[in-house]
Amino acid sequence: MIKVSELSFLEEEVVDNYKFLHTIPELGFQEYKTAEFIEKQLKSYGVDELHTGVNNTTGIICSITGATPGKTVLLRADMDALPLRESTDVDFRSQRDGFMHACGHDGHVAMLLGAVKFLAENREIIKGRVKFVFQPAEEGPHPGGAHFMAESGLLDDVDAAFGLHLNTCSPTGSVGIPRRECTASTDSFSMKVIGKGGHGAAPYLAVDPIVLTSNIISSYQSIISREIDPRSTAVLSFGTIQGGDGASNIIPNEVFLNGTLRTFDDEVKRFIVKRMEEVAQSLASAHRGRVEFKVIEGYFPTINDERMALLVRDALLPLLGEENVDLADLANTGGEDFGRYLQDSPGAFYWLGCRNEEKGCTYMMHNPNMKIDLDALILGTQCHVNVALKFLMEE
Ligand SMILES: [Zn+2]
Ligand SMILES: [Zn+2]
Repeated sequence: MIKVSELSFLEEEVVDNYKFLHTIPELGFQEYKTAEFIEKQLKSYGVDELHTGVNNTTGIICSITGATPGKTVLLRADMDALPLRESTDVDFRSQRDGFMHACGHDGHVAMLLGAVKFLAENREIIKGRVKFVFQPAEEGPHPGGAHFMAESGLLDDVDAAFGLHLNTCSPTGSVGIPRRECTASTDSFSMKVIGKGGHGAAPYLAVDPIVLTSNIISSYQSIISREIDPRSTAVLSFGTIQGGDGASNIIPNEVFLNGTLRTFDDEVKRFIVKRMEEVAQSLASAHRGRVEFKVIEGYFPTINDERMALLVRDALLPLLGEENVDLADLANTGGEDFGRYLQDSPGAFYWLGCRNEEKGCTYMMHNPNMKIDLDALILGTQCHVNVALKFLMEE
């Protein structure tokens, strides 16, 4: 067990790395400066295998092999930022106007770099191998960075995968480990509802796509409330509805719609998609219109392996204390592409608290005022190190 006190020599460096990364936010698949910085640090720490530009992206994968042979464990950080103008008062604010690390991925990189440095200097305690993934584009665009890392062939020998995400909703020093479901699948859909335009005063001579659209929208809510087992989770929300050009007396030719569908179960997802298409087509024919319906596949749900969730708890309990480690049903209908790694090997994803009311670190992720408590960073390094060592030590 590696205590925080044993990592304290690293804390300043982890925090400095974080502050620097916070000044250079870059969007998904464009993390050039970020990747350059990570590569420079990894070279100075001395890793065994270093792959940059993984699968023609900005992704980086490296490994550290221990003194004795054993299993291979993956630790992952994402490195992209958001198109958002920062409003915080920190002295290491974003130097790129209109971009901000508002999801804590700069913290994820800094924490994982800390783990690399510690393990590179302490190979004798590693039984097996640790692979470190610095992936691009967790926030998108689809199919996201995890897909390219997983498809690179560099992770085929991984026995288990672990990742964490900072969480401004829980206090620093606490960890939330979802027993199974973490984040939902994030498919989106789009639809063109086609009628026949005409004069608003004579709808019988037209085919009104607006009335048809309103029927589709309300019928979709019944798919969720009347056709899905209430013990399953499903969310269906519309994000865009566009039709007409502003005139009050013109029935438009067509209406465009899109939205998002969130579930934790592939079967539930397939059923809803099938019913969405059937309902749209049958309403369209009832209203003499047509519908073009398209589903855009998003991220897999992130579903923890229960044994791996227990392993994370066992690794962190002695360090953080019983009252600070919560292994529970913590499903969240947000999205996260860590689920892609869990398609190939068991593993777990967990939430690391970084909320501190006294320091004003209370805003949610994706908010321009979002700040993390810097004291959480070295705890994240400690979590990574202990989870990886615990997995490698287990038979
Ligand atoms: Zn995010
Ligand atoms: Zn995130």
